[in-house]
Formats: sequence, C-alpha cells, structure tokens
Amino acid sequence: MIEFQAVTKRYDDGTVAVDHLDLTIDDGRITVLVGPSGCGKTTSLRMINRMVEATSGTILVDGEDIRSQPAAALRRGIGYVIQNAGLFPHRTVLDNVATVPMLLGTKKAVARKRAEELLATVGLPPELARRYPSQLSGGQQQRVGVARALAADPPVLLMDEPFSAVDPIVRDDLQDELLRLQSELGKTIVFVTHDIDEAIKLGDRVAVLRVGGKLAQYASPAELLAN
Ligand code: ADP
Ligand code: ADP
Repeated sequence: MIEFQAVTKRYDDGTVAVDHLDLTIDDGRITVLVGPSGCGKTTSLRMINRMVEATSGTILVDGEDIRSQPAAALRRGIGYVIQNAGLFPHRTVLDNVATVPMLLGTKKAVARKRAEELLATVGLPPELARRYPSQLSGGQQQRVGVARALAADPPVLLMDEPFSAVDPIVRDDLQDELLRLQSELGKTIVFVTHDIDEAIKLGDRVAVLRVGGKLAQYASPAELLAN
C-alpha cells in the first residue's frame, strides 16, 4: 500500500504542484491519476520514487516512510515507465532489459534468458531482440520499456503516460496487454494519464486531480461513469 499523507510539493519558483494530497493506493491494483495538464500528476508520481522530494507531508510504502532508506534502495522495488520508453539507445533491445538484473548481480547468461522471457511476456516478437531501440516502432519501444521496468521484478510500477505517444490503435492494444499482464502479475501500478477514457479503461480506482494539485475525486470507474 502507498499512502500520501497531506503531501505538498512547492517547486523553487513557488509553484504549488501538489497541495495537501491524501491518497491511499491499494496493492495489486491499477490506480490511475488523471486530470488536465499541470494538475500535478507527474509530480505526484515522481514523489513516490523520490525523483521529486515532497516539500511537506509523508509518503508511506508498506507503512514505511520512503525517506527512511536511500532513494536508490527504494527504487529497486519501484519500476518506472515513461512516455518515450527512455531506452538506452546504444544497447540492443535484449540488453536494455538484461542490464537491470545484471546491475543487481545476476549473471549475464541468466539475465539474458530472463530478458527474453520478459520480452515474450510483453508481446515483443523475438526477432526484434537484437535490434536497437531506434529500429523499433513507438509501440514496440513502449513494450520494451515495460519489460525493462519489470526486469527487477518490482512490486510497484509507476507509469507516466506510457501510451500517449503511440497511435490510437496501438494504444488500445498496449492497454489490453497491460490489463492482461496485470491479471497475471498483480503489481501495484500507479498510472498517469490526461485521458479520462484511458483512466476508466485501466483503473481499478481513479484519482481525479485538478490544477493546483488538489484531489477532486477518488472513485471506481463505475462510480465516475455514474456521475
Ligand atoms: P501534470 O503531470 O499533471 O501535467 P506536473 O506535475 O508536471 O503536472 O506539473 C504540476 C505543476 O508544477 C505545473 O504548474 C508545472 O508547470 C509545475 N512544475 C513541474 N515541474 C516543475 C519544476 N521543475 N519547476 C517548477 N515548476 C514545475
Ligand atoms: P526528465 O529528464 O524526464 O525530467 P529526470 O531528470 O527526473 O527525468 O530523471 C532522469 C531519468 O532517470 C528518468 O527519465 C529515468 O529514466 C531515470 N530514473 C529515475 N528514477 C528512476 C527509477 N526509479 N527507475 C528507473 N529509472 C529511473
């Protein structure tokens, strides 16, 4: 469980991106943060892995203050997927995924085997594993990004508009794939999007933020649709 307790983020220029946010994110579910551009979605997400430090308030993961351990240790349990996949351009697709377990001490051959399995899990054709990221389509790159985020088998996955840069048909496909994956893996996923349809499709629960960084609504998709 991830708990935001009165979390505020004020950037150095005085912008209040997130304002006294209280939010409980359930384990093993997809929680979507949705709202217009600038409402503090990315800031909220990045506070969970401490890419952004909260100005005040507390974030707990499994009851523990995230500041109680070094950020690097925290991030080992938190995968992160961004819009344009953020792959290492000079490494093959396979090595992009295998690098993570290798950094954690897994032997190269084992890490590569695991990378192959992960790429199959996210539905990437095996013949693409030897290519470089620039030789893949946007949708394929996103699949690799998800595989890489899963490589350390983190219980928590943060996803920041992961499918926004791909065309609508591919996006639909990636969304279905994520739902399938999630039904198998049962990760705790925090998913950021500005697209309410995507939020309703993917979310077990949806947190609607409004500009100024306040929580407007926190509900199931069914409850949102009823309103
Ligand atoms: P969203 O993800 O919902 O678009 P963000 O979390 O990116 O929102 O941004 C929330 C607010 O904080 C916006 O007003 C944005 O301009 C501001 N902001 C984001 N990053 C910074 C920064 N590094 N410095 C100053 N203001 C920032
Ligand atoms: P940006 O340049 O998009 O603003 P940052 O400078 O905040 O991003 O972070 C740089 C990069 O560090 C991120 O894009 C991401 O690839 C990487 N990174 C930071 N934290 C994590 C994490 N917990 N897991 C994986 N990658 C991370």
